[in-house]
Amino acid sequence: MNYRQRKFSRRELIKFMALGAAMPFILGVTHNARSAEAAKASKALMKYQDKPNGNEKCSNCIQFIPGDTPDANGECKVVAGSISPQGWCTAFAAKS
Ligand code: SF4
Repeated sequence: MNYRQRKFSRRELIKFMALGAAMPFILGVTHNARSAEAAKASKALMKYQDKPNGNEKCSNCIQFIPGDTPDANGECKVVAGSISPQGWCTAFAAKS
């Protein structure tokens, strides 16, 4: 029997249909994540530095998304790439 003559079981068909239904969601999530990162400003443009500017640092900024631990790098809502909690850039906005 070649692959054209093969009959699919109902279980295989359900798996195949479920994968097909999930594919737009999977592709959409990865596309959105890439688009969100691409929409951010570069570190160079925002004059990002890995050290604080006086009392201003990323861990005190409303744009900062913390990493797994307080000392770990996180992300920024407006600047692309890995962001140090001790960093700073010209878009700094203090948490109130
Ligand atoms: S906006 Fe600037 S200071 Fe604020 S978290 Fe992002 S990189 Fe750090």
